[in-house]
Amino acid sequence: MEQFIVSARKYRPLTFATVVGQSSIAQTLKNAIERKQLAHAYLFCGPRGVGKTTCARIFAKTINCFNPDENGDACGECESCKAFAENRSYNIHELDAASNNSVEDIRNLIDQVRVPPQIGRYSVYIIDEVHMLSAAAFNAFLKTLEEPPAHAVFILATTEKHKIIPTILSRCQIYDFSRIRIEDAVAYIEKIAKNEGITYEPEALHIIAQKADGSMRDALSIFDQVVSFCGTNITYAKVIENLNVLDYEYYFKLTEAFIAGDYCTALTIFDEILTKGFDAQHFVRGLNSHFRDLLVCKDTRTTALLEVGAAIAESYRRQSEICDVNFLFAAMDITNSCDVGYKTSSNQRLHIELALCKLSSVTTSRKVEQVVKIVESSENIKTETNPPQTTKQENQAENIVKDNIKTEETSEKSTVAARPETTSIKGFDNLMASINNDKKVAEPETNYNTTNEDFTAEQLLTAWNNCAESFAEKQPRVAGAIQSTKPVIETENTIIFNVQQIIQKTWLEDKGIAKNICVYLQKELKNSSIKLEIRVDENGDKVTAPKLYTDSDKEKYMREKNPELTNFQAAFELYDSKN
Ligand SMILES: [Zn+2]
Repeated sequence: MEQFIVSARKYRPLTFATVVGQSSIAQTLKNAIERKQLAHAYLFCGPRGVGKTTCARIFAKTINCFNPDENGDACGECESCKAFAENRSYNIHELDAASNNSVEDIRNLIDQVRVPPQIGRYSVYIIDEVHMLSAAAFNAFLKTLEEPPAHAVFILATTEKHKIIPTILSRCQIYDFSRIRIEDAVAYIEKIAKNEGITYEPEALHIIAQKADGSMRDALSIFDQVVSFCGTNITYAKVIENLNVLDYEYYFKLTEAFIAGDYCTALTIFDEILTKGFDAQHFVRGLNSHFRDLLVCKDTRTTALLEVGAAIAESYRRQSEICDVNFLFAAMDITNSCDVGYKTSSNQRLHIELALCKLSSVTTSRKVEQVVKIVESSENIKTETNPPQTTKQENQAENIVKDNIKTEETSEKSTVAARPETTSIKGFDNLMASINNDKKVAEPETNYNTTNEDFTAEQLLTAWNNCAESFAEKQPRVAGAIQSTKPVIETENTIIFNVQQIIQKTWLEDKGIAKNICVYLQKELKNSSIKLEIRVDENGDKVTAPKLYTDSDKEKYMREKNPELTNFQAAFELYDSKN
């Protein structure tokens, strides 16, 4: 039976040109060799499996080659190159500092370093995981590192540069190896697959590269694992099954549900994912990455940041078209908070389900906000007496709004909040655009004679109650909130809406309800400068205590408190002003 050689070994690059994903480092090392500017100590830093040891070996082979070719690469045919190829060269010494980290180990190494090589010019000492050396070992090593024999070259490799003491760092030329980019890893796996006669779906190789997370060695190990599972045909479906990767398709479906405001589908899909045994937090992170990927698709300047296969990239591009940038911002924010709070949540499933519901409401609540804006601008147009010259299009837009206002005035039951269903958003968008385009219209104070009729506390109260009634059918919670308190006139046109908890204030403000109420009052009291301020009354008792707004309220309150008042009134023949 043929011996199986893992791909990471079988396809280890043999020249600088074939090193994957580290082309600038490879080129620099090669140039140094060509110019004969060799340092005595190098430090290769970077994550595991990105080619540090591979580069060190190629370096050792190249500087020892008897007949380098015109490109400066090792010939592969001389005695030295053959010895390297057969792993029997005496010019290369590898020490794993993770298991040989004592002073004794380093002393042995120093003894070896003194001996010049039999063939070739240099002895190369590769010390892997050099940060694992003990402090004493480091110190024992310093002297040799500072004044090595002419034939010795040290290549220290580490994944944790910050653990290397400064005295070592200052004696080395430092090379920082980067993570392997997904497309580089995919290209290399493709090459190997073709060489091995394995057919594949490009998406499948992308999943392998993603799973490897920047390490070429891991990518090749995963590739071997997948080949032993799939045989000679690697498909996307089999790979995600074998590697336990969540299918992209789930994220696409979820995003569709969020945009449609369909929280039922979102919750069902989440349940399905849990049933399949996927980790919930992993899912949340994946969802956040999905929104990030949609966001980078929105602009051609960022599309290069999308690291997926061509077919899936097309799906991303298509979905990003229907996603509003603001939706994506909000969605990333929600999923990120969900991820952050996940570990400390007492009911983790509910924690995620809540986030999914929030995601489903992003689009709808944005529509409401949009409409509120439009309502405000429509109020400005309504009160306009000297309209600035307008184009035909703007007139049309105004008519749309005026029609809407008319409908609302004739129907007592209609509410501000009910508008989203009854009005054409598109018409309003035109209006918004035309208003934003014309600065004169955008500054109502300078161009409009607004109606600012005075109103009394009693009139305000009537308007307040009517407002509550107008919400009663569609938004009973809002109606309840309005009825639970009475408005207070603070200054001439500022009305205070007292609530007892900050959460109520947030709810009223964030959902645009406060704006709707304000608009209602402005209209009913024929005063467009009315402002509504939501205020949290920290002394809850005060709020629940009855407030006296009208004269009859005050009279009633006094009578209840002082029953003698009635007798007093009769005795002195005092009469109610109404009589
Ligand atoms: Zn050679």
